Amino acid sequence: MGTGRVYLVGAGPGDPKLITVRGLEAIRKADVIVYDRLASPRLLKHRKPDAELVFVGKLPDKHMMKQEDINRLLADLALQGKVVTRLKGGDPSVFGRVGEEAELLAEHGIAYDIIPGITSSIAVPAYAGIPVTHRDFTSSVAIVTGHEYPNKTYSSLDWEHLAKAIGTMVFLMGVANLEQICRELIRCGKPPHMPVALVRWGTWTDQATITGTLEDIAAKVKAANFQSPAVIIVGEVVKLREKLAWIEKKPLFGRRVLVTRARCQASELTELIDELGGEPVEFPVIRLQPPSRPEALAALDAALADLARFDWAIFTSVNGVEYFFRRLRELRLDVRALAKARLVAVGPKTAEALEQRGLVAELLPGDFRAEGLLEALLPQLAAGQRALLPTADIARDYLPVKLRELGVEVSEVDVYENVLALEDGDEVLELLRQGGIHIITFTSSSTVTNLFEALRRLGEPEPLQLLQGAQIACIGPKTAETARRLGLSITYMAEEATVASLAESLTWPGRKHESVGDPNH
Ligand code: SAH
Repeated sequence: MGTGRVYLVGAGPGDPKLITVRGLEAIRKADVIVYDRLASPRLLKHRKPDAELVFVGKLPDKHMMKQEDINRLLADLALQGKVVTRLKGGDPSVFGRVGEEAELLAEHGIAYDIIPGITSSIAVPAYAGIPVTHRDFTSSVAIVTGHEYPNKTYSSLDWEHLAKAIGTMVFLMGVANLEQICRELIRCGKPPHMPVALVRWGTWTDQATITGTLEDIAAKVKAANFQSPAVIIVGEVVKLREKLAWIEKKPLFGRRVLVTRARCQASELTELIDELGGEPVEFPVIRLQPPSRPEALAALDAALADLARFDWAIFTSVNGVEYFFRRLRELRLDVRALAKARLVAVGPKTAEALEQRGLVAELLPGDFRAEGLLEALLPQLAAGQRALLPTADIARDYLPVKLRELGVEVSEVDVYENVLALEDGDEVLELLRQGGIHIITFTSSSTVTNLFEALRRLGEPEPLQLLQGAQIACIGPKTAETARRLGLSITYMAEEATVASLAESLTWPGRKHESVGDPNH
């Protein structure tokens, strides 16, 4: 038997970055992850590729696994020699029943760690601009269950002492009992005008807040049909929200943004969306791979074997650089063969990719498209020179055509190809159907065509209808043209053909770019 063990991990309140370093390590190490609905599913992407997932939360039929069965499951898995990570919302010790889980493990002599997490009781108010203590208002805070156990009554809590002694009160699991809680607090001496806030799905994309007083909050919550999970904060500190609310001010607050580019290229865009307060949803519709056609590969290998003959090496994308070097390495060839060639990069990212390999591109035109590049090169090009152009199979042929017109001998070789990525798309499909994707980003024409194709393959006969509910953001005019041709209208358009510029365009208010160059308008 292997050495099984269990990590009882606080997953934080929802924002996937609010997990501890130790907690994340436990996710990475796990053979099995046992989780429920308050632990963000976005954390699961850090798991090992073959890790098993077990959901023990409430299912659509409202059926839930019993706590004793969860305890048993953790013990059994560990006894089978597995590394088990039990992800629990917030902190596992705060109304998280970690005690019961750990008890059974201890009884069986199974090793376990309790890894604390950021509890919703403090973090959720903070995300709503409410610090649970403040020098001017309160010097104590209590975290209280708002849940009425069937075999207990509220009298099991000493309401009178709580109401007198405690400044800020934070109730978890209390939405259903809000009215009684407020009534009880007033009865025990809290002033009826005491401020109250409810924050639901705090730190998630759907975070929403409602404020009132002990007297009127229950009616407000009912009228708004405001449902759990929510944290209830009672105390003067609630007033600070007016001044301190911060997350709602982020430009992409509450917005889910679909990222369609290849997974290996997505991180810059997803980080930017995250910084702007949005939730990036990765759905790569492109995968990059080495050329699959034997002739293409043979042409590439021939060019790489004879690098010394080139006067120019023109790199048009980061991927071009990456796959160029990958193949060079596979063939055990040395980049010094390029010593004579002058290196050109289209755009700063491509130049950076070269620099990372110790190569400095000497020309960096301000205009990121092929047209601008050519203009910059023109004075130095001469007939009879030889240029190497490592590209993708679907690269536009403007540049080689123009170079050839000038008498330059161009070796255009495919270093990689774009293929349709077919990932598990159930979740994205569901979000699209519910209108839960607010913006779709396209970073090349093939992301557009491939998204349509991917959705069709997922069984969606009319992808256009599904996509029309979202706003569309395009990185450049070619991409926008493809999107329009397929029936989409463009809301956001990058000023420069870079991911940073695309992300920035999303922060522009309104639908400013709706009709950019659209022949239908
Ligand atoms: N261990 C958890 C609490 C579990 S009890 C923690 O430390 O946060 C479950 C209750 O926590 C919910 O009913 C709700 O009151 C609260 N809760 C958890 N996550 C929340 C969130 N993201 N937003 C609002 N309330 C949340």
